[in-house]
Amino acid sequence: MKFVEKKCPNCGANIKFKVGERDVHCEKCRRDFAVEYDTDPELSDAAAEIRAESIRLASDMLSHANRNMKLFRIIFFTIFGICIVSFLVIFVMGMINAAQIRKEYNEQWQKANNNSYITP
Ligand SMILES: [Zn+2]
Repeated sequence: MKFVEKKCPNCGANIKFKVGERDVHCEKCRRDFAVEYDTDPELSDAAAEIRAESIRLASDMLSHANRNMKLFRIIFFTIFGICIVSFLVIFVMGMINAAQIRKEYNEQWQKANNNSYITP
């Protein structure tokens, strides 16, 4: 938060207020004033500075969020890829194993039944 100090237009006392505030109050003469940001070069500069700072902050947050999103995507797709590959490996190994068992079973069956073939 940026503060500025201005002289009270009524009594000349210093009034300290936050840049961006529209209404200020003089403690000495107890009067209220509207802050003119457009006509006072110092105030309009300060207001512009605060606007620029908040834009910088917002874009910083956005790029930070983008980085996090990118990281999340990389981690997600890596885990997803590992799952797919694992599934495929287990599936193929199961198929090979099943084919092996069927082959052995057929061979035993052939031996036991005078080498006649069966259809699987
Ligand atoms: Zn005053």
